[in-house]
Amino acid sequence: MRIRYPLPEEYKLLYDSVKRLAEALEPELLELDRIGHEEVVGKARRLIKESSKIRLLSLPIPVDFGGSGYFTLGATVALEALAFHDAGFATSIGATWLGLLPVLIASMTGNPDVGDLWLKPFTEADARGDPQIWGFAITEPTAGSDYERLEPRAPQPELLTYARREGEYWVVSGRKVFISNAPIADFITVFAITDKALGVKSMACLVIPTRAEGFRIGSVFDKMGHRSSPTGEILLESVRVPSPNLVCPPGTGWDVVQLTLAYSRAPVSGIALGVAKRAYWEAAKYASARVQGGLRIIEHQIIREKLANMYTLILATEALIYSTSQRLEKEFPPSLEDSSAAKVFASNVAVNVALEAIQVMGGYGYMRDFIVEKLLRDAKLTQIYEGTNEINLLTISDKIVEEVGSIGS
Ligand SMILES: Cc1cc2nc3c(=O)[nH]c(=O)nc-3n(C[C@H](O)[C@H](O)[C@H](O)COP(=O)(O)OP(=O)(O)OC[C@H]3O[C@@H](n4cnc5c(N)ncnc54)[C@H](O)[C@@H]3O)c2cc1C
Repeated sequence: MRIRYPLPEEYKLLYDSVKRLAEALEPELLELDRIGHEEVVGKARRLIKESSKIRLLSLPIPVDFGGSGYFTLGATVALEALAFHDAGFATSIGATWLGLLPVLIASMTGNPDVGDLWLKPFTEADARGDPQIWGFAITEPTAGSDYERLEPRAPQPELLTYARREGEYWVVSGRKVFISNAPIADFITVFAITDKALGVKSMACLVIPTRAEGFRIGSVFDKMGHRSSPTGEILLESVRVPSPNLVCPPGTGWDVVQLTLAYSRAPVSGIALGVAKRAYWEAAKYASARVQGGLRIIEHQIIREKLANMYTLILATEALIYSTSQRLEKEFPPSLEDSSAAKVFASNVAVNVALEAIQVMGGYGYMRDFIVEKLLRDAKLTQIYEGTNEINLLTISDKIVEEVGSIGS
């Protein structure tokens, strides 16, 4: 199901090229959904490497640093195309972009050296066909939602990841959980506090190479969906990195997290949309072939209504997430609440459409041989990561309170 929203022609070509790649890899990606999660770790890296054929990972990197110069809109288009075939693959590509975003933001906001240091080698590796895989690590065992949204009235969460300066080095210790790509990553952008009394007000962001001494992967998680994308725990034991690895100095980390989420939530909605479109498409194909009561089930009015509702929700999602992704590129600072609204709407549509697709397909929809049960498992994560939908709604409601407050005053 092609994008109906009127995007410039180059984005349609981008969609086609990414979709061709994902379609070719789909049989192997679906295999990763079936095998044990520890086995996936060895295989996922090779599949991500395939993306270098179209230099996919360099897509959102500015042309000055060797990338293709797309940003949020291009990322949303690409993630939709990938997720139509496998949401886990989209998550792994998206997690690399998420890991690079703090570097990109630093290069856009007054620290151009980080671009030469990290972004140029990144695009060069992609051009050589040996792409770097990145991750983004903020979540800690004691701070998930608390990290996405700090409650001013609540006590500060206990944060476990701490960085201290030692001459020309930074030494980082701590623990992060649920980190996409962690078991296969080359580099991870890690957020750490630098002053225990100040907590998040002292937060910094550092690039940690996973080959550094003291870096270890703890648990590798066995997940419900997105199984082709390995998720792991990171253990940091006095990891020493040179001072240029500090991309956001102490005190600026929290603002960079907010900017990162504003730029990433709308593209992540693309993953939800890709899943919803696949579920709709599978249900529509099935309904036009399956005969019950002497009629193809697509001729039963109640099934038609279900398909029409799914189609309508998909059109509404397209309009919301593509218009938001377009706008995010043009404004600074980008609107976190609008990006959050796109993520909440698209993820709820993905879950609802996947559920309805299973219903349209009856008993076969519930069977693992048909892809819609996987689509439901994949859709569910989009309501949880990038901040749970509850936390995203709180972000949106903060803006409402602020605006209503200013009308009243
Ligand atoms: C597969 C997967 C991949 C992930 N990838 C990454 C990654 O790459 N990098 C990264 O840093 N993190 C990642 N995460 C972490 C993800 O962002 C967190 O799981 C999420 O922020 C929720 O945190 P939590 O799991 O600790 O849940 P909790 O914060 O414990 O929340 C539990 C429930 O309580 C609700 N809740 C909590 N606080 C409030 C509140 N103030 N008001 C109302 N409701 C509240 C939540 O909405 C939720 O329903 C990933 C998670 C998963 C599952």
